[in-house]
Amino acid sequence: MAILIIEDERKLVDILKIGLKGERFSVEVAYSGEEGLEKAMKNEYSLIILDIMLPGKDGILVSKELREHHIHTPIIMLTAKGSIEDRVIGLNAGADDYLIKPFSLKELFARIRVILRRRKTTDSDIIKIADLIMDKKKHEVTRAGRVIPLTPKEYKLLDVLLSGNGEAINRRKLIDHAWGPGFKETNNELNVHIKYLRTKINEINKKPLIHTIRSVGFILKE
Ligand code: CA
Repeated sequence: MAILIIEDERKLVDILKIGLKGERFSVEVAYSGEEGLEKAMKNEYSLIILDIMLPGKDGILVSKELREHHIHTPIIMLTAKGSIEDRVIGLNAGADDYLIKPFSLKELFARIRVILRRRKTTDSDIIKIADLIMDKKKHEVTRAGRVIPLTPKEYKLLDVLLSGNGEAINRRKLIDHAWGPGFKETNNELNVHIKYLRTKINEINKKPLIHTIRSVGFILKE
């Protein structure tokens, strides 16, 4: 699991780095708000440790911008002042938790564990394969960050295909789920709708994800 630290205080960064690596996290560092934003938007992290006091863009702005860009990586904010206002502003800006400096590594690790555990239980709402993501809460599918508008049937078909977890799904299961149990095809409906779905998915990235398994069904994998 990777953690991004956005903090300009090099001494503190070094301590955090050593501590987190000892807990088997891989660690990346950004020393300014701008650099942090760039990294957080480009790469995927399990968690971001974000200081409020940063040169240029401060932590509050960074957090706000990330959330505005639909990046929901959990954020633990660090604040030096420890005032109530800071905490409220931080949480309103989209942070998941905050720590007042100086804090112990033990305290930080405990907070990280809580957040990552919480994260795990909600993960099932988001299914991901390669650059394709289905967000069940939002009822939204994206590829490479771009929303794919799907009809209800296409959404259902994709949902079943994703549930296969890289294994083939037979035609009957797909038809039952999208059209209703026992539905009898009259115009090759399944193939037609899979074709629509494929076209939409491949419009954004040509790399095929839906593969045909002859006389069996379909499989969704890289
Ligand atoms: Ca700082």
